Amino acid sequence: MKWRSHLSIGRSLADVLQLSEEGRRALLDGMVEPDRHKERISGPGYCYRVSHHRAPQRVIMLHIWMARRAFLRNDERQGYRHLGTALHYVQDRSTSKGPFGLTHNRREERMAGVPVPRKMIERGLRNYTSSPEFVGETVRRTRALKDPEGIMAQASLRSAMVTAAVLDLSGREELRKEMRLARRRHVLLYVPLASGSLALGVSLSLAWSSPLPLLAAIPFLAWALVRDRPHRRLGRLARWNGLSRT
Ligand SMILES: [Zn+2]
Repeated sequence: MKWRSHLSIGRSLADVLQLSEEGRRALLDGMVEPDRHKERISGPGYCYRVSHHRAPQRVIMLHIWMARRAFLRNDERQGYRHLGTALHYVQDRSTSKGPFGLTHNRREERMAGVPVPRKMIERGLRNYTSSPEFVGETVRRTRALKDPEGIMAQASLRSAMVTAAVLDLSGREELRKEMRLARRRHVLLYVPLASGSLALGVSLSLAWSSPLPLLAAIPFLAWALVRDRPHRRLGRLARWNGLSRT
């Protein structure tokens, strides 16, 4: 996707959200950043340049998490910058490359003339859940399309959905309550049940020198693990909302 198309989606988002001058500038800066410097991702034993048209999910989510953490500490400039970069990659994912990239340039030229559908921006800003799972799914479901209008519509919709999910900080109080409840159940019910049935299984198995009591404990363990799932899901949501660091 060309700069011009990225920027027009960014401007449209900034208009609808009525961003401050600073927020707007940071969002647009972040949005063209991947075209200025190809990003390098490195880790133990590897280093590669991020391809725009198929940026790995991991790289996109990295920018999403950095944006989210920045907003949580009220650093709007960093927040919008990382959000803009993540959106650039999401928008590029909307564009099909075509065989050998031949039709690619022509398509991008044509797309630069397509206006941003304001309706898609507004719809995206209404339809979201503020969670890392929602953002991950939204990014994953972005398909490489061929017709310029379709590309623009999808890129605008997904950009707005991701933006709304990252910007919404309102769920923290509700989550705090939910966490307290889930933690209490985890500590007072599921952990004792799981470890109790395991301990009973082990000691009976030893006393009777038979594996049967231990095997009988397995369904209890599985049940406790399944019932305790909200506790684990809430752990991720807590990080998303800045309520936990681990
Ligand atoms: Zn790009």
